Amino acid sequence: MTETTCIRAADWIIAWDEHKEAHTYLRGGDVAWTGDRLRQVGGRFDGLVDTEVDGSRLLVMPGLIDMHCHPTQTPIFRNFVEEWGNPRLFFSGRQAFRRNFIQDDRALAASARYALAEMAASGITTIFDLSHAYPGWLDILEESGLRVWVAPMFRSARWYAETGQQTLYDWADDGGAAAFSEAQMVMDAAEVHESGLFSAVVAPAQIDTCTEALLHDSIALAEETGRPLFTHGAQSYPEFHCMAQRHNMSPIEFMAEIGFLGEKTIIGHAVFTDEHPWILWPRNHDLKLLAETGSSIAHCPTVFIRDGTVLHHIGAYMDAGVNVTLGTDTHPQNMLEEIRVAELLARASSGPKHSSSTTRLFNAATINAAKLLGRDDLGRLAPGAKADLVTFNMDHPQMHPVRDPLRTIVHQAAERAIESVYVDGRSILSGGQPTRIDWQVAGRELTRQQARLAAEAGNIEEIVPLSLEMGQPRGA
Ligand SMILES: [Zn+2]
Repeated sequence: MTETTCIRAADWIIAWDEHKEAHTYLRGGDVAWTGDRLRQVGGRFDGLVDTEVDGSRLLVMPGLIDMHCHPTQTPIFRNFVEEWGNPRLFFSGRQAFRRNFIQDDRALAASARYALAEMAASGITTIFDLSHAYPGWLDILEESGLRVWVAPMFRSARWYAETGQQTLYDWADDGGAAAFSEAQMVMDAAEVHESGLFSAVVAPAQIDTCTEALLHDSIALAEETGRPLFTHGAQSYPEFHCMAQRHNMSPIEFMAEIGFLGEKTIIGHAVFTDEHPWILWPRNHDLKLLAETGSSIAHCPTVFIRDGTVLHHIGAYMDAGVNVTLGTDTHPQNMLEEIRVAELLARASSGPKHSSSTTRLFNAATINAAKLLGRDDLGRLAPGAKADLVTFNMDHPQMHPVRDPLRTIVHQAAERAIESVYVDGRSILSGGQPTRIDWQVAGRELTRQQARLAAEAGNIEEIVPLSLEMGQPRGA
């Protein structure tokens, strides 16, 4: 029997208006779903109900879509990467840390389990999980209850830096063929997984670490399977110049040239386009190339600003017609905070031209992502859409005063007022706590695994000292 749930007389609803093609506010209406599909959004639901939820103090909004996250890495790197990088290489690489802090399968799993609970706790219902394949990956994803585009990354080369002045490339003898085969097995397994919550992404890891042949194979696989095509690209100043030296093209021009761009393509970051004021480049058409090909970008402002880099004018991307989505490339893995940071940074870096807004960036976190995924049943609350939704406690002190709750959520309350999260109509978070993964247990395991790897690394305390020295106890 398929169950019907109804949030009765929700105080506020962020509902999709298909005629206006916009999110809109509704007051005092029902949100009902049967199984995994919404049946009623606003107004009165008169059908039979198995579970009724009092909505009088709730806001109901669509679940957020995180188009760029690395669950196996992000939480376990915490405390090591916030302030430490190579200042002679734009704080990038963190080579000494990465070379010493080596993750094994237990550490990857501990990081991922924690990350997935954290994302559920901030109202995320769909993620692009960019990881290198590891044992038990799909089991952990299933445990989380999230909707996942599984993106096993593969590449032809790894980065390294000997002098600290230059990023160097260690190319694999097979050009990345073995990694590509392994990734294809994970993609195939994800698509037939019994949870029905997984899809696959073809994800050559970075535009500068893949041979042109591997990129062509990736494009061909994406076309043949209809899967989205992802890569990190135009993501750093050194990478821009590396691509310019190799090809006499900007990274975006190179992608256009080889046929990488298109309606199913999403570029992680695209910060260093020829629009960026740090780039001295004789042409200015990268945004046009992205827009004309219908390509998307995943904008993740926090990870960049941490290293002193900023995408200067996200509004210009949106004005040019580029499909902008958002992601949580680093911690905190919190899309609501990422929306706020994106908006504030846009104003700080492009001033009166910024042309961003809470509405535009909320769209980026919902319907723009759904557009790239080719899914008109995600990122919105409308009859027939997936029951992927988030409720907020309107009586939480951080939600007052109540005039414009989306602004309150983005600019004040963030995840603190989240009450529950549902994916496919099933609860993954209740009373603010993830229901499928025990987040506290996952947190303790994360600390254990990080401490173990740090001890194995030996010199990690010298590479990244604590922010405060350990002190001495003092008596009266
Ligand atoms: Zn990334």
